Amino acid sequence: MTHSYRLGIYWYRRDLRISDHKILQTASQQCEAVLPCYILSSWNKKHSWTGVNRQQFLCECLQSLDANLHTLGSRLVIRQGRAVDALRKLILETGADALYFQQDPDPFGKSVEKDVHRLCDELGVKVHAMHDVSLHSPEQILTGGQQPYRVYNPYSKNWLAQPKEKPVAKILRLHTPPLPTSEPMPSLATWGLDACSAQLLPGGEKAARERFRTALEQRIASYAEKRDLPAIDGTTRISQDLRFGLLSLRTIYEITQQAMLDAPPAARSNHHTYLKELAWREFYFAILHFFPEVLEQEFSASWRGLPWDEPDEKLHAWQEGCTGFPIVDAGMRELLATGHMHNRVRMIVAMFLTKDLHYDWRLGESWFMQHLIDGEIASNNGGWQWSAGTGADAAPYFRIQNPWSQTQRFDPQGTYIKRWVPELVHVPAKLFQAAPEKGHPIAPDYPLPIVDHNTERLRTLEIFQKHKNQQR
Ligand SMILES: Cc1cc2nc3c(=O)[nH]c(=O)nc-3n(C[C@H](O)[C@H](O)[C@H](O)COP(=O)(O)OP(=O)(O)OC[C@H]3O[C@@H](n4cnc5c(N)ncnc54)[C@H](O)[C@@H]3O)c2cc1C
Repeated sequence: MTHSYRLGIYWYRRDLRISDHKILQTASQQCEAVLPCYILSSWNKKHSWTGVNRQQFLCECLQSLDANLHTLGSRLVIRQGRAVDALRKLILETGADALYFQQDPDPFGKSVEKDVHRLCDELGVKVHAMHDVSLHSPEQILTGGQQPYRVYNPYSKNWLAQPKEKPVAKILRLHTPPLPTSEPMPSLATWGLDACSAQLLPGGEKAARERFRTALEQRIASYAEKRDLPAIDGTTRISQDLRFGLLSLRTIYEITQQAMLDAPPAARSNHHTYLKELAWREFYFAILHFFPEVLEQEFSASWRGLPWDEPDEKLHAWQEGCTGFPIVDAGMRELLATGHMHNRVRMIVAMFLTKDLHYDWRLGESWFMQHLIDGEIASNNGGWQWSAGTGADAAPYFRIQNPWSQTQRFDPQGTYIKRWVPELVHVPAKLFQAAPEKGHPIAPDYPLPIVDHNTERLRTLEIFQKHKNQQR
């Protein structure tokens, strides 16, 4: 086989797998030898985009990636620092003549790519940067007038209708030169972070594949009816695997579609609902791509400048799961204990922060980014703005979820609540479904609700209505 390049560097970013990996496979075909590398950021301690849970998960993913690369006859070279500096060194050390990487969906990642392109121009290295974070790039799913969608439903219809790429062939061998040296695999100490106290799902490609296989065998056939019930394992739990690229969307889509064809016709709507759910992730990538200002401002211009309350001790109560609203507390404690929260409960706690406590959604967005292992800038921003009523195709501001009736609907036996709030284990589930009488806590060690939902709901309506009137 003739090769286009002598040595290609494969710069791993958020695509930490070897299977169904289009760009790595392209590099393996075009280059005589491929050097996979990962560049650790050199920030120290606290970072606003990520916390200890996600970094712990990343460490496991890198270990697993290195082991998987060994099975191909290759290995992972670790470097640390600014990507452009680390790549410059690596190119000069190795004389690489090509660089491959997956394009990043986030503004910061994109700005780093610009520097890397400039560096490669300067050094005469050919860059192959490809889109592969989602099934469709933002530019592929546009309205008839070639405009970005601002609303999810028509976006998802278009997304579902587009042909999808098939998984790419397995890489059998990757020839990697013995040099250069690598820094050690990272641990939390690399960034000066304390030990992770949450019980996280195991990282790495193999664990992710097993999670998806279990979900496919046990959950997808009843996904539509169970995905909103937080007490049940009704969803696939692969969001962190998509965040770190441990699984490929091509594979997931193809396997789910095949399972849909194999399923009895009556069950197929479950698979369809699941595939449509994947489109939410890509919708939010598209929103971030076309409207990057959402990271600073409300997507809906008419809601910019809303007067949010100054945070006080109630913010702390929300963060720690001590609000006296059992469903909110269960969700916030699940987050602290596992680095994950069920989607239905994410919506409830987010509406509670913005509509019952009147706090800026950005406070919740950053708390989630600190704790979620699936913390994804686009989906997290989209989920928060949706809940606050300010986002793309958001819940209208006057549709305010009531945490008590949400509990009745989605956790009627209180199973989820009792799992995460031990003080409430012996309390009858009925008491989770309505505000307690004033001065009468539902359990001795459990706080009274920090606000009255009905009062705060009216206040929210007033704040939004007043702001709307001022815009006229
Ligand atoms: C306030 C808020 C913040 C959120 N922050 C994040 C985040 O940081 N990262 C993240 O991946 N998801 C986020 N979500 C979306 C959703 O809660 C998670 O994707 C979901 O809980 C992951 O569990 P799962 O893999 O079992 O999902 P499943 O129900 O099994 O869905 C499969 C996949 O579809 C995608 N998906 C499903 N629903 C959504 C959605 N509403 N928005 C975007 N993608 C979706 C995810 O990639 C998910 O893994 C947020 C939602 C809200 C309301």
